[in-house]
Amino acid sequence: MPDILPEAPMSIDSGELVRWYAHAQRDLPWRRPGVSAWQILVSEFMLQQTPVARVEPIWLAWIDRWPTPSATAAAGSAEVLRAWGKLGYPRRAKRLHECAVVISAEHGDVVPSDVETLLTLPGIGAYTARAVACFAYGARVPVVDTNVRRVVARAVHGRADSAASVRDLDDVAALLPADATAPTFSAALMELGATVCTARAPRCGLCPLSRCQWRSSGYPAGTVVRRVQRYAGTDRQVRGKLLDVLRDNSSPVTRAQLDVAWLTDPAQRDRALDSLLVDGLVEQTADGRFALAGEGD
Ligand code: SF4
Repeated sequence: MPDILPEAPMSIDSGELVRWYAHAQRDLPWRRPGVSAWQILVSEFMLQQTPVARVEPIWLAWIDRWPTPSATAAAGSAEVLRAWGKLGYPRRAKRLHECAVVISAEHGDVVPSDVETLLTLPGIGAYTARAVACFAYGARVPVVDTNVRRVVARAVHGRADSAASVRDLDDVAALLPADATAPTFSAALMELGATVCTARAPRCGLCPLSRCQWRSSGYPAGTVVRRVQRYAGTDRQVRGKLLDVLRDNSSPVTRAQLDVAWLTDPAQRDRALDSLLVDGLVEQTADGRFALAGEGD
């Protein structure tokens, strides 16, 4: 009786994916030739939790104005917060500015290329460090965002989706091709999740993968419950309204000027303002008015 060999774990055919990426990738400005590691890093900061369409114009204006870490470092905090515009989560702008200061002062104005050093920089976590090492320097490292996690959950593990796990990096590292196509494979995996294998309605008819465990299992229902993030009425919205007032004024404003930005719930407005002060995005002048960080003198 012939031996029954254990079934090989499902993998992803890197050739299929890389060939698809060659013609299907979106033409994004930070992917074009000549874009520096710093400019790629800026795009990664901006793309955290913000869609490509909103990032693109802000990124283009940003790198035109501040093409290097030292140029960004030389800008004032308030200028940086203004240029961040309505990208949201403005703490990212502050951290990006701090990151620019460290790179220009301690790394010769050159973005470090290794993950360990990148992880020491302000605002850079596990995802961004590996994304910069991979996309700017071609490092063979696993890059795991929600899109990648979802594609791997479906194609490899036969699950509809997957919550973040400490095993994610090892899981994706095991899929990386051993040759020089590894960085392209990483970019392609992310692109597939962003454009084809989307969370709500995967377009399997356009998928380049000939093998997908979730598809071949008949699309079993998922168990991961995703909360839909509300924006209207949240403290985030109120913080944004208060920052809008400060961005529109080049000199400090009174409390009354801020108060009219959110009349719905004064307690919520106070809480939002306190949090902006604690985050260092807003400062108070000696006479009690309010300004963007760096403009309160
Ligand atoms: S076949 Fe469908 S579910 Fe599977 S990876 Fe492709 S798009 Fe995603």
